[in-house]
Amino acid sequence: MAEPITMTSVSLDDLCINTIRTLSMDAIWTPSRVRCLTGEDTVAEIGTLAEARQRTSASSRAKGASSDSPPEPMQRTGRCAAGRWEAHGRVLMARSNTGTCELCKRQTSKSQMTRHIATCASSHDSAGPEQMIVQIRIDAADEPRYWLHVEARSDASLDQLDSLLRRVWLECCGHMSAFWVGQSELPKRAKIGSTLRRKGLKFTYEYDFGSTTTLTGHVLGSRSGCLGRAATRLLARNDAPEWTCEACSRPAVIVCPFCIDSGPCLFCEAHAQEHPCAKEEVYLPVVNSPRMGVCGYVG
Ligand SMILES: [Zn+2]
Ligand SMILES: [Zn+2]
Ligand SMILES: [Zn+2]
Ligand SMILES: [Zn+2]
Repeated sequence: MAEPITMTSVSLDDLCINTIRTLSMDAIWTPSRVRCLTGEDTVAEIGTLAEARQRTSASSRAKGASSDSPPEPMQRTGRCAAGRWEAHGRVLMARSNTGTCELCKRQTSKSQMTRHIATCASSHDSAGPEQMIVQIRIDAADEPRYWLHVEARSDASLDQLDSLLRRVWLECCGHMSAFWVGQSELPKRAKIGSTLRRKGLKFTYEYDFGSTTTLTGHVLGSRSGCLGRAATRLLARNDAPEWTCEACSRPAVIVCPFCIDSGPCLFCEAHAQEHPCAKEEVYLPVVNSPRMGVCGYVG
């Protein structure tokens, strides 16, 4: 077991990513979340005390509380989980990057979708007083095959955009999330119109400070129109990538979350049953989201 540390024996500034990697979760007791930045896109965070306790008890249950096994590395980087798929040489059946407009169901390429949305969105407006509407493209960090086009009334809050992202792509068990422009975290109550309005503005969004899914946002512009009662709406999203089973060439339907970072983890039904982790009952479905295979995400 790692030497337990407390807030009295180490200052927050002393914690760097390497320290965190060698710590057992049992040792981590922080009054609030801690953010450690060590490089361009390396972000490690320790959850809240409550999260740490929850995880500690979960891992103790899994391993047996008195286990002598080495501390589980708490290696969490700011890269999108989906970025790992490529890193391990996992293959897609098709490499096309198409998406579908949610308003008219037209399918087109990622690069053409921005132009399509520019005309399609306003032709699907509600009747009513016009308001300023901001259009945003969201991409999974490091994984450009996952993308969304969304729009929001300028008086919608970041909280409302957060809800949309959770509903469409992310929500597993109510983790914390945050929006950032550069190094500045944006208040969730802030209005889209006052924070994310400038055309060309880029921002970052993180869901879950433990097993983080990182997204990048890009403000495409604004228009005048009416969304009716909705504060935000999904305009378009990428079509589901098709993954192949790593034991045969059939389509993969199951992800083994235990093996994401270490070996084959995408399987067809038959090979999932032959995989050594089958008895652990941890399998997750292959889904169209950058959070596939992470935490308890089932789509
Ligand atoms: Zn359309
Ligand atoms: Zn979760
Ligand atoms: Zn198979
Ligand atoms: Zn496994």
